[in-house]
Amino acid sequence: MHEINYQPVLAEPNLIDYDSYYQSFTWDNEFQNLDSLPEGRGLNIAHEAVDRHATGLLKNHVAIRWVRKDRSVKDITFQDLYTHSNQFANVLTLLGVTKGDTVFTLLGRIPELYVAAFGALKKTAVFCPLFSVFGPEPVYQRLSRGDAKILVTTLDLYERKITPILNRLPKLQYVLLTDVQTDINNTVLSLPLLMDKTSTSFIIPPTKSDDAALLHFTSGTTGMPKGALHIHHAVLTHQVTGKLVLDLHPDDMYWCTADPGWVTGTSYGIIAPLVNGVTSIVDEEEFDAARWYSILEEHKITVWYTAPTAIRRLMRMNIQPTKQYNLEHLRLILSVGEPLHADAVRWVQKTFEVPVLDNWWQTETGGIMISNYRNMPVRPGSMGKPLPGVEAGIAEITEDKFRIITKTGKEGHLVLKCGWPSMFKAYLNEKERYKKCFHGKWYITGDLASRDKDGYFWFVGRADDIIKTSGHMVGPFEVESCLMQHDAVAEAAVIGKPNATIGEMVKAFIVLKSGNKPDENLKLDIIAHARKKLGPAVAPKELAFIESLPKTRSGKILRRLLKARELGLPEGDLSTLESS
Ligand code: ATP
Ligand code: MG
Repeated sequence: MHEINYQPVLAEPNLIDYDSYYQSFTWDNEFQNLDSLPEGRGLNIAHEAVDRHATGLLKNHVAIRWVRKDRSVKDITFQDLYTHSNQFANVLTLLGVTKGDTVFTLLGRIPELYVAAFGALKKTAVFCPLFSVFGPEPVYQRLSRGDAKILVTTLDLYERKITPILNRLPKLQYVLLTDVQTDINNTVLSLPLLMDKTSTSFIIPPTKSDDAALLHFTSGTTGMPKGALHIHHAVLTHQVTGKLVLDLHPDDMYWCTADPGWVTGTSYGIIAPLVNGVTSIVDEEEFDAARWYSILEEHKITVWYTAPTAIRRLMRMNIQPTKQYNLEHLRLILSVGEPLHADAVRWVQKTFEVPVLDNWWQTETGGIMISNYRNMPVRPGSMGKPLPGVEAGIAEITEDKFRIITKTGKEGHLVLKCGWPSMFKAYLNEKERYKKCFHGKWYITGDLASRDKDGYFWFVGRADDIIKTSGHMVGPFEVESCLMQHDAVAEAAVIGKPNATIGEMVKAFIVLKSGNKPDENLKLDIIAHARKKLGPAVAPKELAFIESLPKTRSGKILRRLLKARELGLPEGDLSTLESS
């Protein structure tokens, strides 16, 4: 087993000794690091992330550095965010919004999105950000399922995406446009005009820590996206993971590349850095390798949270970033969303000369649950160890049995013991589905994993993607990792194809690195490579070259779509498909 031992650079890590911290950790102790609302009025995310800093020492500290598409910059201090979100909360009062009403945004990554988020949280409304590139139908699905009362958007998005669906949204009372100076009619209003009318003071009403705060739709990788409801108490997970996993320090320049339309972009693009008092970079533009590298350089990013899909894209490019850009400030890279293959871990380490820490969590868990840590040896390909305060286990689950497997190295269902602060409280309008996620005190994640003798967790695959072939259970991750070790392979996805004799046959879809010819010889060579490494039972028996893999807009490979297309079955919900 090859471990990478990173030498800590610059600031001392916040988590020095994982084992002893894990042993002595209690959520109650960590709760003392939060401020809570004055006069015992409870716990509110907006107070923890914004108000307490704006009324304290960090008043003039930059909370959000917004990088516009044209690369110009606007700095928003904690004080700015405080007054603007107060105004937005007052706008909501003016419009009759009350506790528990849902406020949606359909916005690019612009300051109004962040102002609306905190304004809605202050008002104790439920905030739901939608990814702005969704078409009208996915937007309709989410607004109607979430009973949207208020939507904040731009004139252009309103005209293109909302007007076609407006008459199907009877519960939507107001649309607020960020970029018009006059109202369109009685219900489609100018947000700047409303903001001008309101006071910059707002007193957050009593907020219980289990009051609903955020609504997030899952990525739709395995089927129709589910709406996961989160509460204000979640901020405790954000604070703790910001400290222990992102290793945030006061002078950090932190960049999370995810859009707030996905849970990572809210939990870690908005809340975690601010609750830790750290400046967060928001880039208005989508992925562009040269732009990303120069943002890392220009803004002296120290901690960078991104995703395997972005890392794989960077790996495919012929750029040696540290030669072309000055990245001396970068000390930590983190990745979430999909497995980070061991080769990618090694590539990042070699290329950037800083650690890359893979971590695992879900929309449902609201925050990071299993992770690598700056001061713990990384085992490339492993998701790491449970966050202090989180108990993770591997379970054998059948129709009539639930058993925690204590033996190490065995694959099974990844389960988490309930009790972490950011656990989702409901699936929107799906009570039965929510109930089915639990067995006693355990939450069943839907993923399969194993744990090694030292407590590291290894991802096997989603329960839905597991392939049953000749009596073996094959996790796609293992096969795809092996395929990606072949020199010609840029990306790989495998599925199980029904087969009368062996149950399912492993079929691989391969995207080649540029310069390789997709011919029969290469096909045989890749299969031979896999057979040598994995053995004939597990290696793909069929292989197809493909231009690109279908992915969700959050960058996850849609194996269910590859399978449906292969078998000529209905394609299912495609609302989150990247190219749709
Ligand atoms: P849906 O639930 O709608 O099918 P989704 O599960 O992809 O979509 P998310 O909540 O965005 O929606 O993603 C969480 C899932 O992503 C996890 O359950 C896991 O399968 C995968 N994942 C996240 N991080 C990692 C990681 N570090 N390693 C392996 N898999 C990961
Ligand atoms: Mg899921």
